Amino acid sequence: MPPPDTTYIPGQTGPPPPTGDPYIDSVVQTYWTGDEMTKSENKEGGLSAAGVFFMLLMGVFFVMINKGAEIFHGFIRKRRLSTKIKKLYTADGTTYHNWLLSFNPYYKSLPEEAKHRFLERTLHFVSEKQFRFHYMEPAEHIPVLIAGAAVQLTFGLRNYMLDHYPVIHIIRKEYERKADQETYYGHVSRSGIYISWSHFLAGYSDYSDSENVGLHEMAHALQFDAYLGLEDVHDRNFKERLRSFCDEGRPIFRAMRKGASHLLDDYATTNFDEFWAVSVETFFENPVVFKERLPVLYQEISELLNQDPLLEYKVVDPDLL
Ligand SMILES: [Zn+2]
Repeated sequence: MPPPDTTYIPGQTGPPPPTGDPYIDSVVQTYWTGDEMTKSENKEGGLSAAGVFFMLLMGVFFVMINKGAEIFHGFIRKRRLSTKIKKLYTADGTTYHNWLLSFNPYYKSLPEEAKHRFLERTLHFVSEKQFRFHYMEPAEHIPVLIAGAAVQLTFGLRNYMLDHYPVIHIIRKEYERKADQETYYGHVSRSGIYISWSHFLAGYSDYSDSENVGLHEMAHALQFDAYLGLEDVHDRNFKERLRSFCDEGRPIFRAMRKGASHLLDDYATTNFDEFWAVSVETFFENPVVFKERLPVLYQEISELLNQDPLLEYKVVDPDLL
């Protein structure tokens, strides 16, 4: 009998992953209200000109105090983080580098300076997340390689931590979920990122077939994080760019659903979320053909992620980092 859970491998015993919230089909459709601004009432009257001036002055004063405190805390946070990462780098940098070098072609292609930044981000990501293994023995290199997929996707973004997700679940192979009895290679819900380890490995071992479950699931997670995670103070324009991607991408997506010939895997026509995640796989694994066949979509993804896999350093605008 399968464990009483949403995610399990049929016929296998062992500690099941925790029950997650039901899968949300489309985070964009669910959370994008189109108007996130709340209107505040602007009541006038009752104050003299001097009073209004005083209130304004006080307002400016408080804004300045708050801004100053924010900058100061940001500075302290950055210093602490940098010290922490330096220590991690000294302890594990070389080992992580060797694992990534032998496994991740994107990392391998980076110039030394960019490799260093990739490595720092990976060390930070691994140190902050909890990795839970299901139906398999834990191994030290697994979190590093999985973190590498997240760092790769967000390499052009300042905020690369996917804050909404403190836990990443790794399952030995494909699994079923009680919710729909379908077979999954990975999925992302509000409660966690789930990845089949065997399919993650397969995704990177052939880096030219536009199939990469690691990048696919991280693409979903990034989308969820933008709407459900901590308010994105680092990449202020990310949500805006995500909307632009939706605006430009939807006509292409609709045309594909109507049968227009395209480069992406047919799974992209399932819904707009899958269109995004499948596009990401092709964007990284086959950028030349992608840019040639779907130049508008390629440009939109490149702007959204602030990176272009065809560039040596990948990042398009370093000022956004
Ligand atoms: Zn998907």
